[in-house]
Amino acid sequence: MNDCLFCKIINGEIPSSKVYEDEFVYAFNDINPMAPVHILVVPKTHITNVLDITSENSNIIAHIFEAISKIAKQQKLEKGFRVVSNCNEYAGQSVFHLHFHILGGKQLSLQMA
Ligand code: AMP
Ligand code: ZN
Repeated sequence: MNDCLFCKIINGEIPSSKVYEDEFVYAFNDINPMAPVHILVVPKTHITNVLDITSENSNIIAHIFEAISKIAKQQKLEKGFRVVSNCNEYAGQSVFHLHFHILGGKQLSLQMA
């Protein structure tokens, strides 16, 4: 995907503040944090959003959640944190490369919408 912001971040064309990286996953601080800890976790392969997850690529999603668990512990978020993925514009997705927001570091409101 040539024109994808997060593909460019993953391949280093656009700078980011890296938090975690392995063979399949890249994680970096959100440029516009909504909480004291606001990290984006993305697959290194381009998947558009949750609607693009299939039996062919869902192993990457399991791996992403393993990474999220590691990152949450590294960031000392054991007390509580939230994982969010916005799917399509109607839900607020603005970058069309699958990503999971990790939000934490404060008491989060119960409001989900
Ligand atoms: P969403 O609105 O769920 O698609 O989330 C996209 C997120 O990407 C937003 O929270 C933005 O603040 C964040 N974002 C956009 N550009 C960058 C960037 N260059 N570096 C880090 N985060 C970014
Ligand atoms: Zn992409």
